Amino acid sequence: MELGDPLGLHRVVPEPRASETDPLPLPQRATRLDNDTDKCFESEIVVDVATLNIDAASFRQMEEAAGGDPDGVGRLVKETVEKRGKQHNPVTGSGGMLLGKVKRVGDAVRDRSNVGDRIATLASLSLTPLRVTRVVAVRAASAQVDIEGTAVIFASAPFAKMPNNMNERLVLAILDVAGAAPQVARLVKPGHTVLVLGAGGKSGILCCAEARRKLGKSGRILAIESHPPYARELNSLGICDMVVEADARDVVAVRDRIAELTQGEGVDLTFSCVNTPGCEMGAILATKDRGKVYFFAMSTSVTACALGAEGVGADVDLLIGNGFAEGHAEHTLALVREDNRLRSLFERRYT
Ligand code: NAP
Repeated sequence: MELGDPLGLHRVVPEPRASETDPLPLPQRATRLDNDTDKCFESEIVVDVATLNIDAASFRQMEEAAGGDPDGVGRLVKETVEKRGKQHNPVTGSGGMLLGKVKRVGDAVRDRSNVGDRIATLASLSLTPLRVTRVVAVRAASAQVDIEGTAVIFASAPFAKMPNNMNERLVLAILDVAGAAPQVARLVKPGHTVLVLGAGGKSGILCCAEARRKLGKSGRILAIESHPPYARELNSLGICDMVVEADARDVVAVRDRIAELTQGEGVDLTFSCVNTPGCEMGAILATKDRGKVYFFAMSTSVTACALGAEGVGADVDLLIGNGFAEGHAEHTLALVREDNRLRSLFERRYT
């Protein structure tokens, strides 16, 4: 049996190339992956998939494209996977992650897992070979799609074994955004004023909760959320100093409101956790010079950030949200477990 490449290059379907010397892309950049799990490689783990947790920006885009029809989202998922061999949304470029049961473990990765383990992938669906035989149900409230199908985990791709003492759908929802809170913990310092955009969503709430844990009684957390029920739920947790119901795409309104709340200084740190494009400049203009803006949102345009900041002379550090941080799954699960109110809010929404 062949070993297969640890990064998954052996599953990349070569496209016609402009020149023979053009390099082969890694699976995430590839247009198409070979999702045939009858082909066996020693470095792979094969999973029977139960649920896809679709990235929020991707789910929102598909919902809009399907006119709000959940079955339409299911059809778009199937269509994308048939075309690309992976759930890699061609519009947003983002994926999600999955929950499933290990079906086969290659000889070279025997130490990683056992057949029968229930696991959640921590690498994006945009680089995970996937076959969908049937869409079983689409759950819009949690952006989760139950399916029948199989997926491949490469040797370099992280995944987590499902804990026994937590609802699986809840764990899947939390792990989808597991990279957010550990980055907040690294960046927030006592006394900081922190702004979170899209603060009432899944990653936004986790960012607020982690920021409060780091700040203790010091500093301030300002939150902007456009969905009124989510703004109210966040407010009820009592972790933010101010929750503003506003559209973060309204750049001038965001700038002015934050200036008003910070006596014209701006915030030290902004986290963008929205699921929609167009919020880059609100985040940048709300942040003081030499402050940091962390773009967790996959709806972010790097061009809009870089050229936009330059264009208004904003001397801020622009950070792209890496979905991975060492120990991120355990970190984020512990954050939710330790706070009963946060846990029950997540249980209500995502299970
Ligand atoms: P989510 O639960 O849908 O939260 C997004 C929140 O932002 C929602 O409450 C949404 O309200 C709100 N929002 C949307 N447009 C807004 C606007 N114009 N102004 C203010 N608030 C607005 O999403 P999530 O799962 O936390 O994901 C958030 C972002 O992180 C997405 O862009 C996703 O792609 C990205 N993500 C990144 C990684 C990574 O590795 N970096 C991993 C996973 C997800 P509505 O409910 O009305 O839409």
